[in-house]
Amino acid sequence: MVPGAVASVNAMAGTSVFEQLEPLLLRVSKPVQYVGGELNATVKDWDTTTVRWALMYPDAYEVGLPNQGIMILYEVLNEQSDVLAERTYAVWPDLEALMREYGVPQFTVDSHRAVGNFDLLGVSFATELGYTNLLTALDLAGIPLHAKQRTDDHPVVIAGGHAAFNPEPIADFIDAAVVGDGEEAVLEITAVVRDWKATGGPGGRPELLGRLSTIDGVYLPGCYDVSYLPDGRIAEVVPNAARAQRRVAKRTTMDLDEWPYPKQPLVPIAESVHERMSVEIFRGCTRGCRFCQAGMITRPVRERSIQGIGEMVERGLAASGFDEVGLLSLSSADHSEIREITKGLADQYEGTGTGLSLPSTRVDAFNIDLANEISRNGRRSGLTFAPEGGSERIRRVINKMVSEEDLIRTVCTAFGAGWRQVKLYFMCGLPTETDDDVLEIAHMAHRVIRAGREASSSKDIRCTISIGAFVPKPHTPFQWAAQEHPDIVDQRLRKLRTEINSDRKIGRNVGMRYHDGKPSLIEGLLSRGDRRVGRVIERVWRDGGRFDGWSEHFRYDRWVAACAAELTPLGVSLEWFTTRERGFEEILPWDHLDSGLDRDWLWDDWQDALSGREQDDCRWTPCFDCGVCPSLGTDIQVGPSGRQLLPLRPVAADNSR
Ligand code: SF4
Repeated sequence: MVPGAVASVNAMAGTSVFEQLEPLLLRVSKPVQYVGGELNATVKDWDTTTVRWALMYPDAYEVGLPNQGIMILYEVLNEQSDVLAERTYAVWPDLEALMREYGVPQFTVDSHRAVGNFDLLGVSFATELGYTNLLTALDLAGIPLHAKQRTDDHPVVIAGGHAAFNPEPIADFIDAAVVGDGEEAVLEITAVVRDWKATGGPGGRPELLGRLSTIDGVYLPGCYDVSYLPDGRIAEVVPNAARAQRRVAKRTTMDLDEWPYPKQPLVPIAESVHERMSVEIFRGCTRGCRFCQAGMITRPVRERSIQGIGEMVERGLAASGFDEVGLLSLSSADHSEIREITKGLADQYEGTGTGLSLPSTRVDAFNIDLANEISRNGRRSGLTFAPEGGSERIRRVINKMVSEEDLIRTVCTAFGAGWRQVKLYFMCGLPTETDDDVLEIAHMAHRVIRAGREASSSKDIRCTISIGAFVPKPHTPFQWAAQEHPDIVDQRLRKLRTEINSDRKIGRNVGMRYHDGKPSLIEGLLSRGDRRVGRVIERVWRDGGRFDGWSEHFRYDRWVAACAAELTPLGVSLEWFTTRERGFEEILPWDHLDSGLDRDWLWDDWQDALSGREQDDCRWTPCFDCGVCPSLGTDIQVGPSGRQLLPLRPVAADNSR
């Protein structure tokens, strides 16, 4: 940052920096991503609002704009008359270089206001590989990287999203993290800031942070001291501030119908990864896949009612003009009224060119019925299933209860119904995995092609297998597991490719997608790391690390070198944080953050995984005491709601619309 640039922006708080930015846009790639002005964007007056939030998705605009979390909070906050919320995204390195040269600060896309002038900067992390982008944004905004060095003049920096369930690696850089659902928490944070400002900001920043630390679900890393044992493990984590909660329990929005957001979905002006409106049809998942952090930390299941879904679709389509609706959740086919929802929406929008999409990961005939239904009004592309593990044995370990027979039966039904492509998702490097488990993926793909040819009487059948390297995540039964080294993962996948091509007549119809496993090891470091990993992030960033989630920007050697330089003197290493198995007694960096899951239950489930014992879904079997419902004083919330999808008149027949 050019010295003085931030000071001059501060003097003009709330004014636009677009005049400075505009000439630079002629010199960068995809300049349209920085100009704002999207349909349903909100621009408010700076001077007549009291609490001002900058909301950041720490990735490029094309990835960040469709993010539901940011979109929901943006609208929830802007509905408050005295609150202003604007969005900011990570700028590409070409613009970053020019911004530094010309002293242009990190800006919001809505009004091109300097992020450093807002009261709060909320950053939503879907993946830990966005951490270096946080540092770029802080630096460009003129906000000191380290929370300790910030003053009353700087925004309060708050992390959210799934990565906030272990924010320890970024503990030095954030003032707070919101653990769990954000809708209610952001309003409570806003109320605290509003009151504090209304009384002239008594006690300055320390008092404001102290007040924030009392809000349920708000965790302030600076209010806790961490000490270490000689072998590198954590000795203890103790609060150092009177008001800090001993354990911070996650926030859970119980009634989704009370939060029908986004009501006015943002419509991107530049190309983005999803160009459709999305309706979250339920939150949480109790299928119990042991690798799935999202499923574990979002329990219990909370369904949006069929009526609420119908109203959101109708209002969202009218507000946005999108011609596709995505029915989102972790496993959408599991909504107790999914049949009525898909049939009702397909009937309602028949002939309007409005398509429906449903992430379909369950492997059964019911899913094919659904797929047939939702493709009635749109294109029939491929079907996607996620067996996740190649062999029955490994699927028992990960608790993904899918038999190969089920899969073959399902794809036969699909191919018989006219589908021609299936995509199968797998993971490699799972706990207890051997080469044989992975080679089973090839045999499964071969069987899919053979069965598909028979069911469809066509040779034109395709099966794509997409493979990701497994990363153990906090708050899952695999939080204690050793991560497999990328060299082993890569070696297994080379063998898999050979096996797929061992029958050339079939192998040529099988596509295999796999990205280098090295970024997964770094994701593993950032997922299960503690505060000592912050030094690594900062060193990588200072060495030029940006956009680590993008293969063209990610550099493994940079991370390895930073780990060696920063961790070795502390007696730990990249391997220590990733490929080491943990024991029950070890204090994990996130143990003082409460996801509602009982630690003993997680450990028992880990032991069950090792002995290949499966766990049922509590939606259809008795509660197995994972701990979430008692800790929240609630129960899983599934239908049928007894309510109707409204309105059910066919849209095309109504000319008044
Ligand atoms: S506490 Fe019981 S009912 Fe609630 S999510 Fe856990 S297992 Fe299911």
